[in-house]
Amino acid sequence: MPTLVMKFGGTSVANLDRIARAAKRVALEVANGYDVIVIVSAMSGKTNELVGWVDETSPLYDAREYDAIVSSGENVTAGLMALRLQEMDIPARSWQGWQVPVKTTSAHSNARIEEIPADNINAKFGEGMKVAVVAGFQGISPEGRITTLGRGGSDTTAVAFAAAFGAERCDIYTDVDGVYTTDPRITSKARKLDKIAFEEMLELASLGAKVLQTRSVELAMRYKVRLRVLSSFEEPSDSAGTLVCDEEEIMESNVVAGVAYSRDEAKMTLISVADRPGIAAAIFGPLSEAGVNVDMIVQNISEEGRTDMTFSCPVDQVLRAAKAMEDAKTSGDINFHDLVTDDGVAKVSVVGIGMRSHAGVAAHMFKALHDEGINIKVITTSEIKISVLIDRKYMELAVQALHDAFELEKAA
Ligand code: ASP
Ligand code: MG
Repeated sequence: MPTLVMKFGGTSVANLDRIARAAKRVALEVANGYDVIVIVSAMSGKTNELVGWVDETSPLYDAREYDAIVSSGENVTAGLMALRLQEMDIPARSWQGWQVPVKTTSAHSNARIEEIPADNINAKFGEGMKVAVVAGFQGISPEGRITTLGRGGSDTTAVAFAAAFGAERCDIYTDVDGVYTTDPRITSKARKLDKIAFEEMLELASLGAKVLQTRSVELAMRYKVRLRVLSSFEEPSDSAGTLVCDEEEIMESNVVAGVAYSRDEAKMTLISVADRPGIAAAIFGPLSEAGVNVDMIVQNISEEGRTDMTFSCPVDQVLRAAKAMEDAKTSGDINFHDLVTDDGVAKVSVVGIGMRSHAGVAAHMFKALHDEGINIKVITTSEIKISVLIDRKYMELAVQALHDAFELEKAA
């Protein structure tokens, strides 16, 4: 029997009615001839509530107990989904992560899946079970303790099961009907994409298009798991949602697939640092130790023997970054004249695999921003992405202008 993985996010299992709706979808796929592995999230809001209880009880909590508590929301929805399916006369049972077992590292609250042996579940399929309902987000460490995979981790559970069982596809049911060219709240011209390449989705996911956990896309790309993102609130149809797939499956695509943004960024510049071998390591080592997520980096020569170093990070990490730099200065590891912080910037990016074969994308982007009078503060590029930092107050305008400039409202 071909296998299908179906993952239902928190809003799709938010109450008993929604679980019943989701179960009907599962029944359709069983009728289509699939053995189905259903991965469920906790009911929406549940995980946040559990995290809140942990914080209230023990601010400096033991991460193993955090995982034991926070993983429990998924146990409830897995059991309820299995019961609902049984009520529909579909042979189904639930599995908690450790029962499969989903073997992970021991990095509590942010564990990685290492292995999912398929034999237990396959044996049950062999005995006539049609649906295995698995609690997402959780696993078991080599020490035998419960682990969780980081917030949003049940997407990653779903992709990992699809890879481990050689599933035909992994359908991710959520409350949006697919992946858009940009955030529809910023421009009504945003268009749902029928298909998007793994690499593009990876850039969009990590740039803040919050449909999929970034790690799930990495995993899908590595194992070539075809992912479909679709809404559980719409009527079933073959063309529903967005297929995230290998670029070879995409015949026609626009040069730019989408415009992404990240609103709360900050730009920090160390002015006039002594220019010597090891200086970058001396700056970014302490930043990383302080837990600062540095994104863009620009180094510029200022005067003979001196250099300016600019980097960006999330705005809520500015104080930590500044302290790390002042401490490094005090201890004599680096020396700089000034540290200038601009905490009012946003990042806007255009992403598309078509950039590899098309020249002039950057020029086109910069002209569109110039036409709106928007000043660019930092630019970085990769093979399939161009990002700029601009004043936060122009972010929406920039997204709209770029969406228009690359005609993303039109399909390729
Ligand atoms: N329930 C977990 C969370 O809210 C995992 C998930 O839903 O993906 O992060
Ligand atoms: Mg999610």
